[in-house]
Amino acid sequence: MSRRTLIVGNWKMNGMNVDGIALAKGVADKIKAAGDTSFDMLICPPYTLISSVVATLSGSALSVGAQDCHTEENGPYTGDISASMLKDMGCSFVIVGHSERRSKHDENNAQVLSKAKIANSVGLNTVICIGETETERDTSDTINVVKAQITGSVPVSATAKNTVVAYEPVWAIGTGRTPTNDEVQKIHEVIRSQLAFKLGVDTANGIRLLYGGSMNAENAKDLLSLPDVDGGLIGGASLKVNDFWTIGECCP
Ligand code: PEP
Repeated sequence: MSRRTLIVGNWKMNGMNVDGIALAKGVADKIKAAGDTSFDMLICPPYTLISSVVATLSGSALSVGAQDCHTEENGPYTGDISASMLKDMGCSFVIVGHSERRSKHDENNAQVLSKAKIANSVGLNTVICIGETETERDTSDTINVVKAQITGSVPVSATAKNTVVAYEPVWAIGTGRTPTNDEVQKIHEVIRSQLAFKLGVDTANGIRLLYGGSMNAENAKDLLSLPDVDGGLIGGASLKVNDFWTIGECCP
């Protein structure tokens, strides 16, 4: 089954209005100038920039997503944002289960699952993040951890259309370190077979699997050419138009 490559920029907690608009416009201009691309692009600004980025991108092929959502539709959750609010603002995607949410906000698989379910129920597509910590890697626990995260965080209603899974080894995020290409391919194969076990072979073969963790203009070509890598989730290198676009241009 052919899977269209997806390049996602996670801006994290970066950018004022003027920066966000310039960055979004810069990427959109590249897409427009390129004409037909072989890949899709999605940017995930902080909540504060979503409205202005959506307005800036009106008519563009560049999609907008958010970096997280709450497990509930609405209610007494001061400071939180629901999936339906994101949809209402013009988002088409939301990232759930990023390791920075799992580690710094103590999110567990059950919460990530609830977020993914509510996001899908209001019509948002999800990028569900999974990946082992350095300690888990050092104790040869990567496969068990990743399988448990899929079992616990991916809804049974996930489809190739509404769900993307991002494998992000925690120790590779923002560190400049990456697994070898062989390791990335092997773990993506494990992820796909675990998805097949849960969702059936056809759905698993259609779901896009992204690699994330220090992907940059230098290593993107090799990573993106691996058979089970269907795109990238990019943090640091998504904050500069040329770096992000160069990664897109590495897509097969
Ligand atoms: C991320 O935060 O999802 C990420 C992959 O970051 P970086 O590209 O900076 O490692």
